Amino acid sequence: MPPRRRFGRKPLRRPGPASGRGRPTRPHGFGRPINPRMQRELRRAIHLMHTGAHLNAAQIFTSLAQRAQDRAILGPASMLFIQSGLAYLYGAQGESGVEQAYNGLKLLAAEQHLEALQREGGRFVTALEEQGLTEEATELRAWLSGQLGDHTHASKAEHKYQVPEQCPYCGASMSLEQLSGLNARAAECHYCGSVVRSTQMD
Ligand SMILES: [Zn+2]
Repeated sequence: MPPRRRFGRKPLRRPGPASGRGRPTRPHGFGRPINPRMQRELRRAIHLMHTGAHLNAAQIFTSLAQRAQDRAILGPASMLFIQSGLAYLYGAQGESGVEQAYNGLKLLAAEQHLEALQREGGRFVTALEEQGLTEEATELRAWLSGQLGDHTHASKAEHKYQVPEQCPYCGASMSLEQLSGLNARAAECHYCGSVVRSTQMD
């Protein structure tokens, strides 16, 4: 029998990302992961950060963030913008760093990912202070408390599952966060959006 060939049939359209407001928000997780090619670029950028080539890394992070945003992969897009911000900051380009970080933090705020906003915003405030940019740090802290309002989250108390320290897909360290509910045995990478199994702790 000759192999069946699928000419002339339109592939089923996948439902695209819902647009605009009123999109149901997921309690955790940011949606789809970035594609394998972008994951490879991300690994390269993370490697460059480790070797101190911060500005080269920053360019890759920015490019990845913009492409992720264009594809409505907003969770990774926001984290990539923030990572780009850190890379510029460590590369002594504080102004670009702040600009990129706000791009990411505003995405998190718009998507109502308040827990991530608090965590990542706080991390960037600390980074600004470490670089001696105290004025920028104060401004960001004020902006964050305006965005968060009453929604300051306590840090998670219990961890029943062990999350791998490094994302096997993009190589980011400490980027995996335990999911809850039905997905409690899985963790999601903030950077590439991949979902990884976590192991139960004794
Ligand atoms: Zn990852």
